[in-house]
Amino acid sequence: MKKIQSLRDSLMSWYKANHRDLPWRKATNPYHIWVSEVMLQQTQVTTVLPYYRRFLKRFPRLERLARADLQDVLKVWEGLGYYARARNLHRAAGFILNHHQGIIPDRWDDFRKLPGVGDYIAAAVLSIAFEKPYAVVDGNVKRVLARLLLEEAPLNRSTSIKIFKEAADRLLTPRDPGTFNQALMELGAMVCKPQQPLCSACPIQGLCLAYETGRVDEYPKKLKKSPAPQFNIAVGVVFKNSSVLITRRKPEGLLGGLWEFPGGKIQNHEKAKDACIREIKEETSLSVGVDTYLGRIKHAYTHFKIIMDVFCCSYHCGKVKLNGPVDHRWIKLENLDDYPFPKANHKFFPLLKKFAATARKGDITKSGQAGNDLRLEIDNLAKS
Ligand code: SF4
Repeated sequence: MKKIQSLRDSLMSWYKANHRDLPWRKATNPYHIWVSEVMLQQTQVTTVLPYYRRFLKRFPRLERLARADLQDVLKVWEGLGYYARARNLHRAAGFILNHHQGIIPDRWDDFRKLPGVGDYIAAAVLSIAFEKPYAVVDGNVKRVLARLLLEEAPLNRSTSIKIFKEAADRLLTPRDPGTFNQALMELGAMVCKPQQPLCSACPIQGLCLAYETGRVDEYPKKLKKSPAPQFNIAVGVVFKNSSVLITRRKPEGLLGGLWEFPGGKIQNHEKAKDACIREIKEETSLSVGVDTYLGRIKHAYTHFKIIMDVFCCSYHCGKVKLNGPVDHRWIKLENLDDYPFPKANHKFFPLLKKFAATARKGDITKSGQAGNDLRLEIDNLAKS
C-alpha cells in the first residue's frame, strides 16, 4: 500500500508540473469534457485540437447538438474519421435532452447506457467531470501498466482489458480520480512512449519493474497482427449537364451518413472501368459511359486499405433508383463543400475541380496533355 501511495504522489506531482496545456483540461462543463474524450478516442491530440474548437463553436451546448441536423454534425466532424462517434454523440445528446432534461447523467448505469458510451468514455467523463472513482484504461495506460508491473497479457488481446482494468482500479486514487486518470494517460503519451520511453525523466521509475530488470524493450507484449487487406475500388463522377451525382451512405456502419461518388469493389479479372459502369448501374440504376480516367487514390483505414480508381463518366439514360445508398443529389461541383465526404474522396476533389474547370474552357481532350498532367498530380497526391 505504501508503494501505491508513493506512485500516486509522484505521478500527481509530476502531472501538476508537466502536463500539456490543452483546452479540455480547463473545461468544467461535462459536455465539453465528453466531446473531447470522444474525439480523442483513436485520434492524436494535435489532430483533435482544431476539431474540438470548431465543434464547440458550432455546438457550444448539448442542446444545440441535440437539435442539430445530423448532416451538419458530420460536416463539422468531416476528416476526423470514425464517424460513428459523431452519430452516437448526436443521438446521445438527443436522448439526454428527452430523457434527462438536458442534464448529463452522472451515474454509471445511466451514462454507460447512452449511444457510443463504452467503459472507457464512461470512466473518463465520470471521473474527470464528476470526480467519480472509475479508472480509465486506454492504450497509453495499458502500456504504462504493462511495463510498470511486467504484465504478460498482450495489449491487443480483447480479454486482456480485464487484467489491466483491475490493475488500474488498484492504483486509482479515490481523491481526485479524474486528475489521476489524466496523469497516467499523460505519462503514457509524453514519457512512457511506445518507442524509446524517457525513463530517465519518469516520475515512477523507482517503482517500475521493467526498468528495474532492464526489460523495458520487452513490454508491452503484443499479438502479431495479420497485414491489413487491400481492396481495389472503382468510382465514377457522373456528369449530367453541369451537375454531378452524389449518393449518401446508409446511416450505420463505416462512413455512415456521409456522401460519396457511386462505385464499389472491382471484381477478380474485371477492368476498373467496367467495374465503375457496373457498380453505378447496380447502385443507382443509371447507364453511364466512362469518358476519362482521373487517377488513382490510395487510402488506409484502420483495418484495411483501398486503391481507388476514379473516372469521369457521362450520364446516358435511366432514372435514379437506389440500391444500397439511401439518398442522392445532382449537385454543382462548386457545392461539393456543402456535403460531408470521406477523406479518400477529398484526396481527389481539388483535381476534379481543376479538371472540370479545364474541361469548361474546352482545352482538354480525353487523351490530352491536361488530362495526363492531372493524372500525374493525382498519382503524386496518392503517394503523399
Ligand atoms: Fe515507462 Fe520507463 Fe517509466 Fe517504466 S520507468 S514507467 S518503462 S517510462
